[in-house]
Amino acid sequence: MPELPEVETIVRQLAPRLEGHRVRRARLAKTDVLRRVSKPRLLKTITGNAFEEVSRRAKHAVLRLASGHRLVIQPRMTGSLVVYDRPLTKEQSRYAVLTCVLEDGRVFVYRDVRRLGTVWLLDEPGWAAYTARIGPEPLDETFTPFVFAERLSGTRTAVKKAIMDQRRVAGIGNIYANEALFEAGIDPSKRTDKLSLEEFARLHAAVLSVLERAVASAGTTVREGRFQFELKVYGRGGERCVRCGKKLVTTHTIDLRATTFCPRCQR
Ligand SMILES: [Zn+2]
Repeated sequence: MPELPEVETIVRQLAPRLEGHRVRRARLAKTDVLRRVSKPRLLKTITGNAFEEVSRRAKHAVLRLASGHRLVIQPRMTGSLVVYDRPLTKEQSRYAVLTCVLEDGRVFVYRDVRRLGTVWLLDEPGWAAYTARIGPEPLDETFTPFVFAERLSGTRTAVKKAIMDQRRVAGIGNIYANEALFEAGIDPSKRTDKLSLEEFARLHAAVLSVLERAVASAGTTVREGRFQFELKVYGRGGERCVRCGKKLVTTHTIDLRATTFCPRCQR
């Protein structure tokens, strides 16, 4: 499941290869991935347009075009974004959803085997509304412990649920929420309004540390998104806590997703 670090890795690899390049022609194989745009309008907007900036917002890749439009792609579980140096082989084009032939002959492809991902095309006001609905980016310098505490204030829900709420903070998914709460030594089911300032600070540091390590390891080990990251709790229910040796517990009662924690270290 691509979370923030995987999408960040994809975007960092894509940016130098796409930025400044114009699309000669575009093709869309399937329309079920489209959001807020029809196939004819998507192809008309992309063709002849240039990619100006490739960045990430939450778990989405954002491709800003010279026209000011944003092509927002959320690759989800089975999607990938790749630039090929030469025309695609039959095998390579098999699950290609969106194919953009660049002016220099290279080919940018959004491929998605099961098409769980989405493609949005937003104009400037559409983008402004879209990005305003999402919380601040945890890896931005402006994301201080104070900002974090402020974004989480006024809620009584479980802290795990609160930090995964994209309107409060961008890009924290289930894997990294589990890992950050373990690192901070905080019970995932603890009511958010019961967290002390010191706990907010610890959780803030843990979120940053977990995300930064995941970005760093993904950036060095993969080309297409599978990260190698030492998971200490996620997916390890029933195994021993790496810190104290107690058996890790998995519960689905907090948000229906798998939450794994150490009942001793995260009290
Ligand atoms: Zn423990």
